[in-house]
Amino acid sequence: MSSPPTPGTVYEIAPRTGVAFTVNKGQRLAVIDPRGEQVSDLLAFNRHDIDEVISSGRTLDYASRIFLTTPDPLYSNRSNVLLRIVEDTVGTHDFLLTPCSKDTFRIIYGDKEPHRGCFGNLAAALETFGVKEDHIPIAFNCFMNVPINAATGELKVLPPKSKANDHITFVAEMDLVVGLTACSALQSNGGSFKPIHWIENFGKMHRGDDSACFLSHKQKTVGPSKNPYRKRA
Ligand SMILES: [Zn+2]
Repeated sequence: MSSPPTPGTVYEIAPRTGVAFTVNKGQRLAVIDPRGEQVSDLLAFNRHDIDEVISSGRTLDYASRIFLTTPDPLYSNRSNVLLRIVEDTVGTHDFLLTPCSKDTFRIIYGDKEPHRGCFGNLAAALETFGVKEDHIPIAFNCFMNVPINAATGELKVLPPKSKANDHITFVAEMDLVVGLTACSALQSNGGSFKPIHWIENFGKMHRGDDSACFLSHKQKTVGPSKNPYRKRA
């Protein structure tokens, strides 16, 4: 998106698409799974120098774990903290696998005319911020469920554990460009493609009522006072 997001507004990412937007230092970003069992790939870049980018390798090295949750930091390739997880209602995310791509669908699924996947969606959305395809690293895959066999290292891609309206919230530790998708791979998303919602400054806004929200597939925004997502302890 070309203009900065409006804080407190709920934005919807349509199934099998992606967006890029700015997040200011100190702002919160909530990534919400409105229907359940839907993955969202997240990339983050230093807005003032896009060669500084989210790094799975450094983050997992410093965490000494591959499963991250509150209050883990996500590091850049220069070992600066880009984002910190401040709230997580699921607790199962992946930071090992690359964004799904036309090659993923060609090699793993055998598709003859493969979808461009999260990789293509991220590349297209991030282009306006000067990010080139070859600079897209492993994404932090919100809600992706990739259990590992500790003895053999074998990994499986299982349906996400997220239920409707589960979310993960990050705080930005520097000015960022963020790329975010509603993942395009059947296996990662329990066999169907669903939207993703996101909100900036989540948790700092007026709290809505308890009613659950089921937004339509159509792009839809909800003002701060009507925000359907409550911060959970
Ligand atoms: Zn994907």
